[in-house]
Amino acid sequence: MSKFVSIKYLGGIEGEDKESKNFTSLTGSATLVEIDDFLGIIDYGMFQGGKNDDEKNSEVFENAEDLDFAVLTHAHLDHCGRFPLLVKNGFSGPIYTTKLTGLQAREMLLDYVRIMKSEIKKSKKFNKKSSKKFKDAKFLVENYEKLVKNSLSREDREEIKRKLSKKFSDSSIDFLKDLYEEAKEYLSKNEQISLRNQPNLLFDESDVEKTFSLFKFIDNSNELTIKENISFNSSDITLDRLLSAGIQSSDEKISLPISVYNKIKSELEERIINTKRAIEENENIKKRNEEKGIYGILTDEEDFEIDIENYYDIPHSLEELYALKRIIEVGFFENEEDFEDSNFIKSIKLRFFDAGHIEGSSQVLLTIISQNSKNISSILDENSLIPGFRKKTENFTNLLFSGDLGRINNPNTSGKPVNIPYSLDYAQIESTYAGRFHSPRQEAEKRFFEELEKSEGKVLIPAFSIQRTQEVLLMILNEMKKNLGDLKIYKELKAKLKKLKKVYESIQDKNTPRAESIYKTISFLEKDIFELKKSSIIFQDIIVDSPLSIKITSIYKNDQNIGKKYDLLNPEKQTQIFGREVIKFISSKKEQSKIYDENRKSRKEIIVSSSGMCEGGSILFHLSNILHDKSAKIVFVGYCPGTTNGGKIKSGEKIFIDGVLHEVSCQISDLEGFSAHLDESEILDYLSNTRFKRGAKLSLTHGGESRSSLAEKISKQVDDTRKKISVIIPNLYDEIKIKI
Ligand SMILES: [Zn+2]
Repeated sequence: MSKFVSIKYLGGIEGEDKESKNFTSLTGSATLVEIDDFLGIIDYGMFQGGKNDDEKNSEVFENAEDLDFAVLTHAHLDHCGRFPLLVKNGFSGPIYTTKLTGLQAREMLLDYVRIMKSEIKKSKKFNKKSSKKFKDAKFLVENYEKLVKNSLSREDREEIKRKLSKKFSDSSIDFLKDLYEEAKEYLSKNEQISLRNQPNLLFDESDVEKTFSLFKFIDNSNELTIKENISFNSSDITLDRLLSAGIQSSDEKISLPISVYNKIKSELEERIINTKRAIEENENIKKRNEEKGIYGILTDEEDFEIDIENYYDIPHSLEELYALKRIIEVGFFENEEDFEDSNFIKSIKLRFFDAGHIEGSSQVLLTIISQNSKNISSILDENSLIPGFRKKTENFTNLLFSGDLGRINNPNTSGKPVNIPYSLDYAQIESTYAGRFHSPRQEAEKRFFEELEKSEGKVLIPAFSIQRTQEVLLMILNEMKKNLGDLKIYKELKAKLKKLKKVYESIQDKNTPRAESIYKTISFLEKDIFELKKSSIIFQDIIVDSPLSIKITSIYKNDQNIGKKYDLLNPEKQTQIFGREVIKFISSKKEQSKIYDENRKSRKEIIVSSSGMCEGGSILFHLSNILHDKSAKIVFVGYCPGTTNGGKIKSGEKIFIDGVLHEVSCQISDLEGFSAHLDESEILDYLSNTRFKRGAKLSLTHGGESRSSLAEKISKQVDDTRKKISVIIPNLYDEIKIKI
């Protein structure tokens, strides 16, 4: 009666969807875990950046109410995005996560609803406008061409002219000619794009709040029992317990200590006799009821006045009882291998370990504590074993779900992934960057500041609101701190300038050599000040435009554990160090538009906005202003798939913003090295510090085809440990089993 954990991959795998044959990106993380009828899901994220995402995201999770638990590893949308949908579909169990992840996920999901609602409104408006323009152009082109052909009957011709003059005030060919050319061009350009896709609102704010109410917070490294302890003491071993545990269906013998065996055996014999008696008596009752004219078993609804006799319930058939009799025997625990079979799950524990990916992110360890039924004797009959030694009676099955893992060699502010201090039976490791290597963070930072220094106008930095925005802000503020000397020089120069100007003003005769020399020094000083202000990062203003970034930043600043790391993001702290508030968080349309006012348009400013992949949110407004500005620059500090607006801009392709096509004329800089994911060498590094049990399974998710070459490298690495570990590259909807 071996037990298994079954693991099914519902998302987070790049490749072909077996069912729809469509390409699926590595987003939509979701893993179903079934432990002996105890069903849970690790992450339930949104599919992003693929063609059939909408369809996939709206798929209903069948029997969501049957799920016993859920776990959320971190707050990115591709891991948390579909939880409100799951709740909408009937899930009401606990969602285990860290407090930081829970708080961020709530804001992330509410922001998603806000953006979707605004997108739906905008596209409705656009489609209404566009379809009218489209229809009018089509009407004009069709009818104009008929008129020009001259093959119409007089009546038809009059009819068309009447219709045209109704719309265009004049129906003469001469008048319509220009309009016709214009309409034709519009149609040729807009044939494919005249209508925008209407996005789907998958869930609303109330679904998000319901989801949030199901969150159960656990701190990293704390342990939580998610399934009650099912202990197996001698007093617990009763006949009914063995029968309800389904032991009679096993074809293996079960060894019981003599005291328990005698008790169970006599109970079982008595039960068999009584069952036989009950079956016999039921036959008699049947006969007696039949004599009264009643056939079959009555239901409550049938209101018979005849006095009928009730039957005995028979909870276990004679076959079941005999089956149990056949398999129980007196026996003693012999050797370790007996652990392999007939396990009882005693309890299931959940532990989180820091994943270092973003603040609050966790790796999830599920530990199944089971006990072999054959070894019951060893628990109960300790005295029969070597005195002073207790045989191992519990078996721990450790399953690790890594979620997304942060970098080891060049960690971000959120830290690095910790190594799990237990031997694993199963590890599911993200391999987003299989086959790829990040450039060192230091190099990326150097290039980042060079780009800022070289810029002459606005610099737009698309960044995720979660972690990346705060990371970029801290990076700039820390660099500013390094350049505090420039501020000192600036102040000195300013003071000198003020003094000299005073002296110069006091001189009556400006034509003296002294006055001329002072004048020259003043202009040199002014130039120096101008150059210093232009080149030093310390004078740079930073604008953050993203409602979500404001909320996430305040979560970070107010957290008692990580708040200190983000202290520089406090305005008071900036004033204290730099003499002014460097970062300005904006949230209104008015403040947005001001940035591009005539007098401010060419001012050097850094704008950090989201979404990081330029797919929606405030950044669209900035892109529509910056894309065609040759003096402006977009500095990418994150990965964008080629199908997203971000990916298109990086490769110089035109993009649509609110239905309008924009060309990329501004400067583009794509910086690598800020990744929040392990690269290939770091995955191998991480695994070399992970302990596995003999025969363990290691599954690589997220990465695409490049997973196979990584799998080979891992196999080689773990081969050295001679533990016969198998590396699996699952496809979407694959299911694997792990023996408990
Ligand atoms: Zn992530």
